[in-house]
Amino acid sequence: MGKPTGFFEYARKSFTYRPVKERIKDFREFVICQPVEETQTQGSRCMDCGIPFCHSTGCPVFNLIPEWNDLVYHGKWEEAYYRLELTNNLPEITGRICPAPCETSCTLSINTAPVTIKQIELAIIEKAFEEGWVVPRPPKQETGKRVAVIGSGPAGLAAAQELRRTGHAVTVFEQSSKAGGILRYGIPDFKLEKHIIDRRLSQMAAEGIQFETNVSVGDDVSVKYLKQKYDAILLAQGAGEPRDLPVPGRGLEGIYYAMDYLTVNNMVLAGELQDTDLISAKDKTVLVIGGGDTGADCVGTANRQGAKKVFQYEILPKPLEWKEPFNPEWPAWPNILRTGSSHEEGCTRDWSINTKQFSSQGIRVQKGYFNRVEWKKDASTGRFKMNEIEGSDFSLDVDIVLLAMGFLHVKHSRLLQDLGIEFDERGNIKTSTGYDTNVPGVFAAGDSSTGASLIVRAIWHGRQASKNIDTFLKQ
Ligand SMILES: Cc1cc2nc3c(=O)[nH]c(=O)nc-3n(C[C@H](O)[C@H](O)[C@H](O)COP(=O)(O)OP(=O)(O)OC[C@H]3O[C@@H](n4cnc5c(N)ncnc54)[C@H](O)[C@@H]3O)c2cc1C
Repeated sequence: MGKPTGFFEYARKSFTYRPVKERIKDFREFVICQPVEETQTQGSRCMDCGIPFCHSTGCPVFNLIPEWNDLVYHGKWEEAYYRLELTNNLPEITGRICPAPCETSCTLSINTAPVTIKQIELAIIEKAFEEGWVVPRPPKQETGKRVAVIGSGPAGLAAAQELRRTGHAVTVFEQSSKAGGILRYGIPDFKLEKHIIDRRLSQMAAEGIQFETNVSVGDDVSVKYLKQKYDAILLAQGAGEPRDLPVPGRGLEGIYYAMDYLTVNNMVLAGELQDTDLISAKDKTVLVIGGGDTGADCVGTANRQGAKKVFQYEILPKPLEWKEPFNPEWPAWPNILRTGSSHEEGCTRDWSINTKQFSSQGIRVQKGYFNRVEWKKDASTGRFKMNEIEGSDFSLDVDIVLLAMGFLHVKHSRLLQDLGIEFDERGNIKTSTGYDTNVPGVFAAGDSSTGASLIVRAIWHGRQASKNIDTFLKQ
């Protein structure tokens, strides 16, 4: 695969970014791919390692990474695309915003910089769109069976496409006005411009998938209707219940869930809401609570809106600072400090901070109160336990607080109640390994059953669920 000596001869060259000063003035994507020739050279760094951990351990959809690295190196882009679409329905999304566990498990990562797998994936799919290789592939035969997919995030979209290509009539229901789930309403445009989603949706619509948007299933469409009209149902509603912070002052104005803040911003940019609806951080001091990716998206958005200052607090300890190109925990996903593009744009980050309360002289939040904590392993349970450090209290003047502490589980909505769905101990939809729920003919995939995760995992589970639904429909 690639060139046996490629990794000796060539250094890793991955994406470059638009300069900070320029990119924070707009919401356009900031990632720049290497030119085609350089990408081919990068493909040659894949070294025929025998056991491709990128494919077998790292990539949740088992992308055929060494194969397409080799094809790209040899300039066989069209073949590379056909390999890529065998395993991934949305490579233009994962090529942009997957955290790329394939790269941390690349064999080169044992002691040097990995192959630029994510960049190669993106280059392949973008070339495929440019060259017109991405065409609708409707089924040759109809099965006469009907499937309802509830939710149009990556799990629902991947499942819908697979089911349609097998010949089933598929309707995707989405409560928002446009399809895409978190891809459209959560993830900011600077990471993923929305015409990228529309381009894929056009292909899916041309394959015969029906999209019913502005329909909240369970409220606008009853379970009785669904069961009568469809032979199988896939629940792919995502993990919509955000984790709250029940401290004194939580009810003050100016404290928002991250997802609400990001959704409004995306909708204003898309012209779905007016500028006056914006939750604007302009000239404000913003505190993001939660040190993960959603928090980082809030940081990037607040800076683009013209925030005066942005802080990001995390309750967990600061991970290991790691400057080396290799993975200290190869082939596993390493627990190291990640500094994303949004952090480079301006943000004061701090760790091991517990939020105690918010206060105000009026109705809008003005101050947050915090203390520092330490995490120690509990000898009896083996689990880490948080201890507050005495005398470590401090406060911060804030105008906006964004709660980005993850999601608890799927919303326990009327739809799930009316269906009689069982939940697991975490509140996610309980499924068997075959993706079926306790209700015959009703399946679940993506964050609604796994809990909040990653796009690439949602795609995988959507694809796998579609296989099980197909088997069920053919019984
Ligand atoms: C802000 C943010 C940024 C993220 N960034 C990344 C990233 O960079 N990389 C990454 O890999 N992952 C990222 N993630 C995680 C990733 O987006 C999710 O894991 C993924 O979108 C889950 O896909 P899903 O299809 O299960 O659900 P979702 O994408 O949540 O889609 C579910 C859809 O179901 C709809 N729905 C719910 N109930 C109903 C109903 N009753 N009727 C009709 N429709 C309904 C919802 O409106 C929604 O559109 C991010 C998450 C967030 C919140």
